[in-house]
Amino acid sequence: MKKKTYITALVCIVLLLCSGFLGFQYLNVNGRCQTLETQASQLQKDNSKLNGQLSDSTAELEEKEAYLAGQNEYISELSHQIDSLAEDKDSDRSDSDEDSSSQEEGITDPYPNLYAEGFNPQEKDSEKIAYLTFDDGPSSLTPKVLDLLDEYNAKATFFVVCKNNEEYDKYLPEIVKRGHTLALHSYSHSYGQIYASKDAFLSDFEKVYDWVVENTGYTPSLFRFPGGSNNGSSYVVTEIIDELERRGFQYFDWNVSSGDGSNLTTRENIIDNICNNIGNAEHPVVLMHDGSGKNATIAALPTVLKRLSEKGYEFRALDKTVPSVQYR
Ligand SMILES: [Zn+2]
Repeated sequence: MKKKTYITALVCIVLLLCSGFLGFQYLNVNGRCQTLETQASQLQKDNSKLNGQLSDSTAELEEKEAYLAGQNEYISELSHQIDSLAEDKDSDRSDSDEDSSSQEEGITDPYPNLYAEGFNPQEKDSEKIAYLTFDDGPSSLTPKVLDLLDEYNAKATFFVVCKNNEEYDKYLPEIVKRGHTLALHSYSHSYGQIYASKDAFLSDFEKVYDWVVENTGYTPSLFRFPGGSNNGSSYVVTEIIDELERRGFQYFDWNVSSGDGSNLTTRENIIDNICNNIGNAEHPVVLMHDGSGKNATIAALPTVLKRLSEKGYEFRALDKTVPSVQYR
C-alpha cells in the first residue's frame, strides 16, 4: 500500500515537473516570438525609412541632372552667340562701305522712274516671320503657352521630351489640334547617354517618336538636338544627322536665343534677348523652353508676343519648307 502511494506520488511529481518544464518552454518560446516580432517590425520601419531616403536622393539627383543639362544647353547657346557675334563683326568690317552706300541709295533713289511694270518695292520685306520654338516640355506650363499663343493667333513649334513629362502627355494632341508643329527633342535628354553612339541616339529617339505617335497619331518629321547640333561628340552627331536625314527627318537649331536655358535669366532678360536680337536674323528661329520651372519664360511671353506683333511680325510654326537654321 505504501509502495503504491509512493509510486503515485512519484508519478505526480514527474507530471508536475513535466508540465512545469513545458510551461517554462512555452513562455520562453512566446517571449522569443515577441522579441522576433518586435525586431521584424523595427527592421520594416528601418527599411521603409531607407526606401524613403533612397527615393529622396534619386529625386534630388534627377533634379541636379536636369539643372546640369539646362546649364549645358545654356553654355552651348552662349558659345554659339559668341561665334555669331565674331562672324557679324568680321562681316560688318568688310561690308561697312557697301552698306552705307546702299542705305543712301535706299533713301534717295537717283533713278525714281526706273522700275518695270508690276514691280512691288515692298515685296522683299513684306513678310516678317518669327518662328518661336519651345523645348523640353510638355509640362504644367504648356497650357498657358498655348493660350497665350492663341491670343495672338501665333503658331509655334514644340520640341518635346518624354522622360519625367509622361503625366503631361494629354497636351501633345492639344499642341497638334491648335495648329502648332509637334517636333522631337529627346526621350531622356541625357547627354552622356544619347551622344554615346549613333545607336544610343537612335534608340532614345525611337522612344520619344513612339510616345508622340501613340498619343497623337501625328508622325513628327522635325527634331532638335539637346544642346543644339554643336553639342556632344562631333563625329557621332555627323553620323546621326546622316542617318536621320536618310530617314526623312530634318533638324533645326536656332539663331535667336531667349537665354532661358539658365535659371538665372529673368523675365526682363528674356524679353531683351529676343526683342533686341530678332532683327538680326533673316528667318528668326527663337529658342525658348516650356519645361517645368521655366516661369520666367511664361512671364516674358505676353510682352514678347505683343512687342513683336507691333513690329509687324507674324508667328509661324516650323515645317520642312522653312529654310533650315543649322550650325553644321
Ligand atoms: Zn533641351
